[in-house]
Amino acid sequence: MIVSMQERATEEQIYAVIERMEEAGVDVHRTTGTVQTILAGVGPTANIDLSVFEVLPGVLNVLRISSPYKLAGRAFRPEGTVVEFANGVKIGGEHVAVMAGPCAIENREQIFTIAACVKAAGGGFLRGGAFKPRSSPYAFQGLGIPGLQLMHEAAREHSLLTVTEVMEIAQIEPMLPFTDLFQVGARNMQNFNLLRELGQARKPVLLKRGISATLEELLLSAEYIMAGGNYDIILCERGIRTYETSTRNTMDISAIPVLHKLSHLPVVADPSHGTGRRDMVPPMAKAAVAAGADGILVEIHPNADKAASDAAQTLYLDQFEKLVGELRVIAQAVGRTL
Ligand code: PEP
Ligand code: MN
Repeated sequence: MIVSMQERATEEQIYAVIERMEEAGVDVHRTTGTVQTILAGVGPTANIDLSVFEVLPGVLNVLRISSPYKLAGRAFRPEGTVVEFANGVKIGGEHVAVMAGPCAIENREQIFTIAACVKAAGGGFLRGGAFKPRSSPYAFQGLGIPGLQLMHEAAREHSLLTVTEVMEIAQIEPMLPFTDLFQVGARNMQNFNLLRELGQARKPVLLKRGISATLEELLLSAEYIMAGGNYDIILCERGIRTYETSTRNTMDISAIPVLHKLSHLPVVADPSHGTGRRDMVPPMAKAAVAAGADGILVEIHPNADKAASDAAQTLYLDQFEKLVGELRVIAQAVGRTL
């Protein structure tokens, strides 16, 4: 159930409603937006008489939520979520975020060169995998924590934030000092134990869509994290597996407006994994921004063809710079900044 409070509801009134909701047997999640406070009651609500809540002082209206996700649904924060980072950078809202970097951190020179390029292009986030979920156990698995340390150093030198994939619970703690945004990869979208644990971590999470996941399943995975009290989630469309073989995955651009309709969470697009082909990355990145994406996540490398992983979909640095220039024009055309 969702209880929307009136604009001028007092703290006393809000607490009284929270108390009544808890008495009715639900967990209460509170969000205070720019205009009003919204209280989501999560748990068994089928037998709760909503009219009791409608007449409590300060209540504007009460809704029963029929979708299986309550906190990730749009009604919890009708105005949309803006995830704010320690340095003031935001994802969601007017600005379109640019996140770029190699698929895998390889060495010091590589990551420092890329960090400088991301900054010069106007990007805000340096991406790079230190723990890589490779399809083959014999492929490069990443540098682990020492790689992450390198990326963190490179990012800070250029006032960038870091985004990197966490594959298991035991990695969360050692990754914390070097990670501004935890990426949950497509293969782990339904690793519910990992999601629960990230619900306890006080760091934002970039949640990628699984290769065969419906949008409802993606939102239910976000719900797992939110149920733990971590509301700073960014959804990511990264392509899904279809019968089409001319691209690595099929980039589902329509997921962007659908997710915006269903959820208040920001939506980022990853056209690198979405297509698997360097030449297809710029058109899909542009389409995503035109469709309302709140950010773009792309793989770049100074020597893209020789990248240790995902070389075929990795952009050269000059291609990335050109792309960001084009994205800026599109962002402006759809009322955004970049
Ligand atoms: C990645 O970002 O390098 C990655 C492995 O992504 P995904 O989980 O979407 O395959
Ligand atoms: Mn990759």
